[in-house]
Amino acid sequence: MIISLQKNLSAGNRRDLEAALSRLLPGCVLRRKAAGLAAVLAEPAADAVPLIENLPGVAGVFLTEAEHCPLACSGKHASFSAPLNFGRGPVFIAGPCAVEDEGSYLAAAAALKAAGAHALRAAIFKPRSSPYAFQGIGWAGLKIIAKAKKSTGLPLVTEATDTRQVERLSSVCDVLQIGARNMRNYELLKEAGRSGRAVLLKRAMRATLREWLLSAEYLLRHGAKKLILCERGDSVFSPGCPALDFKLMREAKKLTRLPVLADPSHASRDREVAKALALRALRSGADGLLVEASLSPETALVDGRQTMTVDSFRALTGK
Ligand code: PEP
Ligand code: MN
Repeated sequence: MIISLQKNLSAGNRRDLEAALSRLLPGCVLRRKAAGLAAVLAEPAADAVPLIENLPGVAGVFLTEAEHCPLACSGKHASFSAPLNFGRGPVFIAGPCAVEDEGSYLAAAAALKAAGAHALRAAIFKPRSSPYAFQGIGWAGLKIIAKAKKSTGLPLVTEATDTRQVERLSSVCDVLQIGARNMRNYELLKEAGRSGRAVLLKRAMRATLREWLLSAEYLLRHGAKKLILCERGDSVFSPGCPALDFKLMREAKKLTRLPVLADPSHASRDREVAKALALRALRSGADGLLVEASLSPETALVDGRQTMTVDSFRALTGK
């Protein structure tokens, strides 16, 4: 932690400040620097920042990502092999944007497995940009995704949009997805962390690296043992700017060593753009993809325009 000081502090004020800091940061070692103080922390101290900022003589307080998010940056939660195996090349999670009906979902699941999917997108609750848009088929879909899991043997990745869904979804699904709109839904993060299931955390639109990692930290602090990050871009759709932030994706990976996926679909609004983004994401070091793909994108109720065909998906996996 670096604490920058106001100019022209008297020696007495400085001594008072150092005494106050030692009380707020038990066990820390303070070192004097040209612009202020460096505090080598004995324990996590992010909670003390508002108190330190408020001390007379303090101009600013700066923590590294590892000081903000000690669990997420500890490296202890790095790669794992089940329910997704991050040890052997890119992991492909594929499926339609939303489960619509049993026949089309089971057929897509079988085709995607044959085309190289390692897990299924199995969304029955959909957060949308407009509350009037299709929000998924809800609990009626649970039986359908359970059947798909049984028939394909593939793990299910499903989004929880509300704390009340977590327990029931966890009884069937293998990975709980926290969508971009819910990255800051702390009650949902707590419930998902406690569920015992692996959690896939998307970066919220326009969230900073630190904000994303803070939510990851919160999941770990509430019990998540297996955590996957997923970069999905900053916009629902900005004309001419469908980019994912690959630099931020790589920084997240370097700092946390957690598996980091990319979702090339949601910022693209177009299946050809999604295909190109998917390839760039893999070249940029993504550990895999969460991608919208189905047998009949042209008739999908939602996000069909950006949904890949199974053939395009197969070209990505190389199967
Ligand atoms: C999704 O993956 O189904 C989804 C809604 O994505 P996002 O939360 O990134 O918008
Ligand atoms: Mn979608």
